[in-house]
Amino acid sequence: MIELKCDVMVIGAGHAGMAAALFAAQRGLSVVQAGTTGGIDFGSGFIDVLGVHPVAEKRELDEPWQGVASLRAESSEHPYARLNRDDITDGINAFTDFLTAQGLAFQGNEGRNLRLPTPAGTTKRTYLAPATMAPGATALREKAPCLIVSFDGLKGFSGRQLTETLGKNWPALRSAIITFPGLDGELYPEHMANALADPARRKALAETVRPHLGDARYAGFPAMLGVLDCAEVTRHMEELLGVTVFEIPTLPPPIMGVRLRAAFDRGLHGLGVRTLSQKTVMTARPSPDGFRFRAGGAREEYAISARAAVLATGRFFGKGIRQQTHDMRETVFDLPVARPADPDDWYDDVFFSQNGHPADRCGVLFDDDFRPLNDDGTPFHHRLHAAGAILSGHDWIREKSGTGLAVGTAWKAVNTLAKSLGEAG
Ligand SMILES: Cc1cc2nc3c(=O)[nH]c(=O)nc-3n(C[C@H](O)[C@H](O)[C@H](O)COP(=O)(O)OP(=O)(O)OC[C@H]3O[C@@H](n4cnc5c(N)ncnc54)[C@H](O)[C@@H]3O)c2cc1C
Repeated sequence: MIELKCDVMVIGAGHAGMAAALFAAQRGLSVVQAGTTGGIDFGSGFIDVLGVHPVAEKRELDEPWQGVASLRAESSEHPYARLNRDDITDGINAFTDFLTAQGLAFQGNEGRNLRLPTPAGTTKRTYLAPATMAPGATALREKAPCLIVSFDGLKGFSGRQLTETLGKNWPALRSAIITFPGLDGELYPEHMANALADPARRKALAETVRPHLGDARYAGFPAMLGVLDCAEVTRHMEELLGVTVFEIPTLPPPIMGVRLRAAFDRGLHGLGVRTLSQKTVMTARPSPDGFRFRAGGAREEYAISARAAVLATGRFFGKGIRQQTHDMRETVFDLPVARPADPDDWYDDVFFSQNGHPADRCGVLFDDDFRPLNDDGTPFHHRLHAAGAILSGHDWIREKSGTGLAVGTAWKAVNTLAKSLGEAG
């Protein structure tokens, strides 16, 4: 058994857990973080604040902050009702500054949502996009002459599908399927990205793409232009091709997951965070001055004493909530979960129900400082805070609010616990 001591134990390694570990370490607190693969490995890399509101009308938003203001006014249970705009933007700025320093820059549209192409040939509103993807918004808006490049052997990304759907309103959009130089058979974005670390491979790729360019001013590639060297690979491809190059997210597992994981592994380590990668917290025992956790995996076990904790374990996907026959409970502290009283109301006959499922809003109830509540409405522990999808009252999938909500709530949770630890000395 390995003994560890820290100020803050972060439980979860999705966007909320990564943000909480980062913010706590930046405030000079000692941090241990545990978690296995989360949404971070599957996401597009877009940072949504609010893309759709009201959800029932599926109204896509160009002005996310107007939507957030309406949401706050309409639903006091939504986590955004306990955050002001500065909490969300300060959190996102700290998060993206950190990622930029690791090589992953982001771009926005001066507080408005960007509209970007997706691999399905639809479009999506998001608050910030990876800088390698953001020029796709300008190409789309200007309906500029553009070539979409897809590859033999890369599943889930079809230039033809993109041009057939987006091309209805974008006549200057064309596509070409090419062979990736030096790789054959089934292709994976991660292998392609690693191959492009070699400038000679980029030159070979540019040679293969160039004959298809015609009058294109933009070239859209599936997201695979490098890992943490993506800014340099994209710049080099632009130089070689003489057009603006942008990436379009691919279906999971996407390269952005690999990039984010690498950026957090390197950057959080640099800030002194002790990460227990691919380990789960198995037991949690609160005490008046903090917590005692046991965490581990197949080989090692850890006993961790922490003065405070952030619960960022997600919902069903992250395994932060477990469903029993007639109940739902939070998995680490066995906290009560807000959900419809009648289990029959947890389900819908239609799997991809347009209005979502009632279970999509389940989660722990929380106070103004994002402390989870007991059944009687009192905080479970004065130094346990929660962040991200584990919180009740929101439907990030339909609202398109996933990462913004995860980062904003982590920001406020860590600010509050840092103050409380500072006051305790
Ligand atoms: C396919 C997909 C696409 C997405 N696309 C976007 C997008 O385009 N834009 C956007 O803004 N957001 C997107 N998201 C959402 C985003 O990635 C996050 O899922 C969301 O923001 C919630 O993050 P979270 O950290 O709260 O939860 P999760 O991502 O679910 O992470 C929960 C974490 O908790 C860990 N955990 C659970 N139990 C324990 C335990 N006992 N001990 C230790 N760790 C534990 C899990 O291992 C996991 O690491 C997408 C998500 C998915 C899945």
